[in-house]
Amino acid sequence: MTWIEARNLLVAFAVIFWIAFAYWVFKDARRRIADPWLVGFATLLGLVPPFIGPFIYMLFRPPEYLEDVRERELEIKAIEERLAHGDLQCPVCRAAVQESFLVCPVCTTRLKQACVNCKAPLEAIWQVCPYCETPIAPMAAVTKAHSSG
Ligand SMILES: [Zn+2]
Ligand SMILES: [Zn+2]
Repeated sequence: MTWIEARNLLVAFAVIFWIAFAYWVFKDARRRIADPWLVGFATLLGLVPPFIGPFIYMLFRPPEYLEDVRERELEIKAIEERLAHGDLQCPVCRAAVQESFLVCPVCTTRLKQACVNCKAPLEAIWQVCPYCETPIAPMAAVTKAHSSG
């Protein structure tokens, strides 16, 4: 192999890697960046300067894939919708529960205190039962009395 041939081979490899890097940047940018102009800019950066551009791109690229961002947004939206519709969940097992439930029917976690007089389900912040006017002992006090007595 002559020196010219070796040099040509080296140049050919360099060109192949140069194009391959730029193509990788294009593919990666398309998955991370929504704006086609920015994708074009990233691809250009992948081409120029050769080999260094892709590394610069890697330093500045968005950390997440678009599909992950979209997925997370959908998840947040679903949670917001659930909150807006007032659908309640068990904090332990995430089973759907109703406002009137005292315990989770699935995992038996205590959700609410019942009025000692009329057995109505009470909200945690209520000071008095709205149904029968019975004063409500705070839940902490109730559990404390339970454990000591
Ligand atoms: Zn549960
Ligand atoms: Zn009551």
